[in-house]
Amino acid sequence: MTGSGRYDAAIAGGGLLGCLTALKLAEGGMRVVVIERGGLCRGASGVNAGTISLQFVEPEAVPYVRKGRELWQAAGDWLDRDLEFVSKGVLTLAFTEAEAELLAAKSVEKNAAGAPNEIVTLENARRMEPSLSEHPVLVSYCALDGWIPANLAGRAVGRALRLAGIEVREGVPVEGIEPSGIGYVLDAGGEAVAARRVVLAGGAWLIPMVRWLGFDLPLGCAVNQIIVTERMAHFLGSTIGVARRGLTLKQAPNGTVLIGGGWQGEGDPERGTVALIARNMRGNIKLARHCVPALDGVRAVRIWLGLQDKSPDDLPVFGPLPGRDDAFIIACAHSGFTMGPYVAGLLADVILGREPEMPLFDPARLLAVGDK
Ligand SMILES: Cc1cc2nc3c(=O)[nH]c(=O)nc-3n(C[C@H](O)[C@H](O)[C@H](O)COP(=O)(O)OP(=O)(O)OC[C@H]3O[C@@H](n4cnc5c(N)ncnc54)[C@H](O)[C@@H]3O)c2cc1C
Repeated sequence: MTGSGRYDAAIAGGGLLGCLTALKLAEGGMRVVVIERGGLCRGASGVNAGTISLQFVEPEAVPYVRKGRELWQAAGDWLDRDLEFVSKGVLTLAFTEAEAELLAAKSVEKNAAGAPNEIVTLENARRMEPSLSEHPVLVSYCALDGWIPANLAGRAVGRALRLAGIEVREGVPVEGIEPSGIGYVLDAGGEAVAARRVVLAGGAWLIPMVRWLGFDLPLGCAVNQIIVTERMAHFLGSTIGVARRGLTLKQAPNGTVLIGGGWQGEGDPERGTVALIARNMRGNIKLARHCVPALDGVRAVRIWLGLQDKSPDDLPVFGPLPGRDDAFIIACAHSGFTMGPYVAGLLADVILGREPEMPLFDPARLLAVGDK
């Protein structure tokens, strides 16, 4: 390997979580390099559904998504870009008695955890969103929820990195990490990059990174699907969610409808494979039409899949690797787009030696059950 400069921190993986951690570290005075094998924010961070929701996470994560939501809403202040936050609320639908029971229980749980939402009658829900079908048996509504286009956010974050003077190496894979003296040496596409600290932010590809440092992290992977329809006259104001399937739909300013989540595709991040499952795609379209009949007969024009890491407890994972003071990981498992700006700031605080405003979700809880 040839060698290059020494940094206060090297970030392996240039998704939203890696980039935002880098931004915060640079603001704290560190010299930072982000090493990304593809393009910045083109993994999960660039292809996600953009839903900013307090409803889709475990109660313990609610305070973090609330803070993340506030940061996205104020993006004009810290990213100097208006991200077109559509904040018209999310209506979450239950179609069976069993789903309704679950939704009602979750509604109580989420309110207690600080995610305000209310159960509304179907009649009121249809008053709010006239395009809704007559099928739901129960609807909950969270006025704070909304969405922003993920690609806009990714571009704004990339720009912020460059303005902050952060060194970004795109198209460069990290192929190994070794402890070395005080710090680490990363094999960045054959070039040795030395850094005092390392942050592993590989998203669904985090497992091999953690293995380089001697740990096994039992993360799973969700293969989320996004379907984009042809353009339609504007008819859908709110974002619609389906309680049991994790499916969302929303209409973009250009008239296309984005149908995200639901039944999955298949893929294996370590082998680099990803494939659509046709019957699942058809199932998602059918479910979307069941929610909003105006989608009947409308053509899907684009479909893509995105890989998202999943933790066994559905909670984020960010903090130091045990026994290695200067190696950190950050992964969000669920709603990472929503809470990304906040949790990256918390991790950066710890790295900078500051007291974080809220506790981290310590990776040690998972590593303890892995095969080290
Ligand atoms: C289809 C889809 C829909 C989603 N919808 C929502 C939603 O509506 N709301 C929400 O809050 N969240 C959503 N999420 C989750 C959210 O997108 C993720 O939690 C978040 O973007 C994770 O960011 P990340 O930086 O950890 O991962 P990523 O954005 O995947 O970034 C990881 C980066 O690491 C890079 N990398 C990996 N290995 C290496 C290596 N060896 N060397 C160099 N670089 C490497 C990858 O190329 C990638 O760019 C969705 C996810 C998907 C996939």
